[in-house]
Amino acid sequence: DQAMYRSKDNGRNTYQFYLEGMEPNASNRLELMHELNQAVKKNQFVVYFQPQICLADHRVIGVEALVRWNHPTRGLLTPYHFLNEAEEFGLLSQIDQLVMAEAFATGRHWHESGYDDLVISVNMSQHLFNQANVVEVIKAMLKTSGIKPKNVLIEITENVALSQVAHAKKIIDDFHAIGVKVALDDFGTGYSSLSQLRNFPFDSVKIDQSFIRSSTGDDLDAAFVESIIHMAKLFHFDVVTEGIETQSQLAFVKEKHADIAQGYLIQKPAPKDRVRLVLLDDLHGDSPAT
Ligand code: C2E
Ligand code: MG
Ligand code: MG
Ligand code: MG
Repeated sequence: DQAMYRSKDNGRNTYQFYLEGMEPNASNRLELMHELNQAVKKNQFVVYFQPQICLADHRVIGVEALVRWNHPTRGLLTPYHFLNEAEEFGLLSQIDQLVMAEAFATGRHWHESGYDDLVISVNMSQHLFNQANVVEVIKAMLKTSGIKPKNVLIEITENVALSQVAHAKKIIDDFHAIGVKVALDDFGTGYSSLSQLRNFPFDSVKIDQSFIRSSTGDDLDAAFVESIIHMAKLFHFDVVTEGIETQSQLAFVKEKHADIAQGYLIQKPAPKDRVRLVLLDDLHGDSPAT
């Protein structure tokens, strides 16, 4: 039902939201804009969560909140189908806030049911991050949800961090001042080097999954992942490895002393009532990705 048109002009290599046989033209862009506006107004977004485990003991130490759009006729859509457009249409900051409200409320519920150290990670768009009142927005969300700041982590990409360096460093400091952690997401996909980023007070660095994917097949990627881990640790960042799909990838990042892992092998993103927050002991075996 949906054709995937790879967009070549936005450099993000993501998919655009157009029906099969439909040319991406002005008229269906308008329709999508209208639908996305409605989606924000009616909050048609659903939050999925993906666990992150501590590599030392396979304890679930956090979950990343990932947005889905429950489209009225097309079903559940992943970010690839609408996020770029939402950003273009100026709706991403509002979507981020809807996701955060839901993620923080769910997190608080988990914290109260005994998972009191669980860290809730949320992705923050450039638009929201660069908003003058971003810290106030987060403070208000912490207050409304009742979640503890130390249980919240905000993920930004290197493009967001480097788009306004002085602002970014200040905002990260401000987040720290209210007790919230900050991670650098998708590291390695931009044009920056870790030495450019060492002056940013990130708590953790997430190595992009494209490197993890080839790290067990490609010597150069393996060396690359190993050196990023090594350097990130020199700069005192925690290292998160994303996109772990196989036992050998898990073994590799563990051997190279990454701290945290996330990926389909461990658990796919799922709605809140289907997320497993317990110790994931069975990863030692040859269990297939679920
Ligand atoms: P991300 O923040 O890097 O999130 C990780 C993405 O990798 C997620 O895709 C997740 O489902 C996927 N993933 C996790 N483990 C594996 C694996 O083992 N194999 C593979 N092939 N994929 C894996 P998803 O949910 O489609 O999200 C895509 C991107 O959309 C996210 O990348 C993030 O940049 C953005 N995003 C998601 N939710 C939000 C949000 O609420 N706000 C903003 N601003 N961006 C969001
Ligand atoms: Mg992320
Ligand atoms: Mg990422
Ligand atoms: Mg990504």
